[in-house]
Amino acid sequence: MTCRLCLKDRELCDSHIVPEFLYKALYSKEKHQFVQLSGPPRVRKWQKGFKEKMLCRDCEVKLNKWETYAANVLFGGTEIGLERMQDAIIVRAVDYTKFKLFQLSVIWRAGVSRLQQFANVNLGPHEEKLRYMIETNDPGAPADYGCLVIFTPSHFDLTSQMMMLPQETKFDGHRCYMFLMAGLSWVFFVSNHSRHLPYKDKLFLSIDGVLPVMIENSASKIFFEKTAAEWKKSGNLDKALKKV
Ligand SMILES: [Zn+2]
Repeated sequence: MTCRLCLKDRELCDSHIVPEFLYKALYSKEKHQFVQLSGPPRVRKWQKGFKEKMLCRDCEVKLNKWETYAANVLFGGTEIGLERMQDAIIVRAVDYTKFKLFQLSVIWRAGVSRLQQFANVNLGPHEEKLRYMIETNDPGAPADYGCLVIFTPSHFDLTSQMMMLPQETKFDGHRCYMFLMAGLSWVFFVSNHSRHLPYKDKLFLSIDGVLPVMIENSASKIFFEKTAAEWKKSGNLDKALKKV
């Protein structure tokens, strides 16, 4: 079968769509289950993350290196600098190429996935552009498929325990896909015009390794307030937070 990344005819692995380490915070100690909150309120539990035959062994290994690096940045294991500002946590000394390629690989995998859970991610012509960037180890410019990372402290008890299927959203007129992973919101800009974003230099991981993690803005706050309220009403929030 054809590997979706290198396009060679190879034996394919059961590839994770969302890297396994991002489920880490969600696994309960005893049962290795996690909950997922998405769309209409309901609790879903899976033993494992979503997988499908997508990549050959070589491409798996390639993506895995970036994932390991990103896991070390997020959960410890590589030396980074942290500075708390009023509206952001500034992470310094991040390897731009590795972390950006990791981010690109997440949105690309969600786009090429044939699983119904990712059906709402439609990359159109961006799919091939992203594939080529990933295959040739080209992280592009910071605003090229830039990813805005948002931390929502007011709802961290909720966000740190849930996974959300990607949702399409708009940010300043640009098409974005928002993921909730590892307690953080990841907003991927899938747009031809993202280089024209105002304040783009302050939004995304920069070439010199500065990753701004925005502290909840009004949009993310409204989104989580709405989600939390819907879940409370349905009774599923308590169920989800129990980590059964
Ligand atoms: Zn391959």
